[in-house]
Amino acid sequence: MAEPSANPAPPPADPPAEAPAAEGAAEGAGEGTVSKKAAKKAEAKAKKEAEKARRAAEQAAAQASRSAAQAEDLAKDNYGQETHETKLSADAVAIHLKTLGDEHVGKTVVLRAWIQNARMQGAKMAFVELREEGNWAIQGIVAASAEGTPVSRQMVKWVGAINPESFVVVEATVAKPLEPVKSCRVTNYELHITKCFVHAAAPNVLGMTLAAANRPVANFSDEEVPVEEGVEKLSIAAAGETTGTPAATMLTHLDNIVMHKRSAVQQAIADIRAEMKELYRSYLRSHGFKEFEPPCLIAAASEGGANVFRLPYFEKDAYLAQSPQFYKQIEIAGGRKRVFSIGPVFRAENSNTPRHMTEFTGLDMEMEINEDYREVLYMLEGVLLHIFRNIKERCAEEIALVRTVYPSEEFLLPENDKEVRLTFAEGQKLLREEGPEEFRNVSDDEDMSTPQEKALGALVRKKYGTDFYVLDKFPETARPHQPKVTNAYDLFMRGQEICSGGQRINDPVELEKRIRTKGVDPASPGIKEQAGVPAHGGGGIGLDRVVAWYLNLPSVHLAAYYPRTPKRLLP
Ligand code: ATP
Repeated sequence: MAEPSANPAPPPADPPAEAPAAEGAAEGAGEGTVSKKAAKKAEAKAKKEAEKARRAAEQAAAQASRSAAQAEDLAKDNYGQETHETKLSADAVAIHLKTLGDEHVGKTVVLRAWIQNARMQGAKMAFVELREEGNWAIQGIVAASAEGTPVSRQMVKWVGAINPESFVVVEATVAKPLEPVKSCRVTNYELHITKCFVHAAAPNVLGMTLAAANRPVANFSDEEVPVEEGVEKLSIAAAGETTGTPAATMLTHLDNIVMHKRSAVQQAIADIRAEMKELYRSYLRSHGFKEFEPPCLIAAASEGGANVFRLPYFEKDAYLAQSPQFYKQIEIAGGRKRVFSIGPVFRAENSNTPRHMTEFTGLDMEMEINEDYREVLYMLEGVLLHIFRNIKERCAEEIALVRTVYPSEEFLLPENDKEVRLTFAEGQKLLREEGPEEFRNVSDDEDMSTPQEKALGALVRKKYGTDFYVLDKFPETARPHQPKVTNAYDLFMRGQEICSGGQRINDPVELEKRIRTKGVDPASPGIKEQAGVPAHGGGGIGLDRVVAWYLNLPSVHLAAYYPRTPKRLLP
């Protein structure tokens, strides 16, 4: 509160008459002239003093009335911390920036958003950027009026000082700016703010600013990236460094998960991921697949016991499922012709690479085979092509936004009926004949290393103009199935495996033999009931990798909501 009279008027000047009289008496002789002169001088002095006092009193009065006006602050009900008494105009309509249009111009609206940026422009005006979601932001202007209401100078000062990332409720009139606002996604409208309340304040200092969160991640120190795998991709990330804001490491992003999530790039990745999942589901449903939920808690390790998380389960141990394989097959054996599941898969592998997590989302499917194992291959290929072809249109803006941070070349797809399906042997031949020097002697019955797969991906892109292809008929040494070559395949994106699939063994005699070679008792529950199961096959796609490699992200950890790695269980 300003005091009503901050500069009180000075006390009145001394009475002018007496001093000169005393002066005259002391001088004695010739006193007529002297005292007249002295009296005049005294009179002039007194006048001057009186004038000075009058001016001081005037100034004090003006100041007092200004202070009184300030103390009153006619806009005081239009800003501040939001409370249960905060009132917005009854006719104000709630808006969302995505759908703001000409019909809103001149209307009183309400927006709930984050203050992305606030800056004072002199004492009477402040500019604020208000962000709703992703990078949907609009410019707001708070300008004090001569009357001091609806916006006063105090209000301008207060709004201009709100900490970035505070969540506010503003009431404003929608207007057309004189020129398009280049700094915001909403360029054709601006908000003339008349009320502003802080709903939830952000701290003075953030662990990571939004600008840093929107930069490409500087490094993935959690990962021990083999040179041949990581360097090329991380240098792509570095290419996005055009602003002065320093980039943060992945650990800083994860330690500041809320700011990580608020970044437009992470929200675009999340939107693309959700849409890809939806496309997977809708395609399979339209091809007669039924969704089911396999359990995550299981009694025995699903893939032979290695790389499995064990946890106490009452008096026993339980395991986290490494794959829904067993349960997909029970569904088929149980009379479902085609099934799929979408859910978490756990791998206790100490793999600190940009491709691995200890928990990821599996898109799994299993189906009856009528004639040939390739029916399954074509279905997996079909669902992935459906995802790639549709995501380009459905998420065009999000993909473009991600590219501004993580640049990537267009993901090339084969034309219809020109899908690239190489046998494993053909792939190795291509590597030997046209690949880099070090792969001149690769053999047809050895599994491919990651660098070999990447080199093959580059060759396929050059030769066939596609980033998506199938490698079929893995040799038995690379896949634990039938003699020599197997009815198993991998699907690749940009030279990296994203899906493995194949035909399962449904012949009980053969199955029992295989079960025994794996050291499992064929009489254990679930296994002994394999009666009359039709030929079937399926596959598992890693959703995180599909998202990451489609967008050419430097790590699969950026595609996951909350990446789990051998070194990281938080947040
Ligand atoms: P890799 O050899 O790369 O470790 P994998 O052969 O163990 O993979 P599968 O068991 O066939 O993979 O799993 C099917 C799919 O699940 C893979 O193609 C991949 O997309 C994904 N995937 C497998 N392991 C991981 C992991 N640790 N993190 C993320 N995704 C994974």
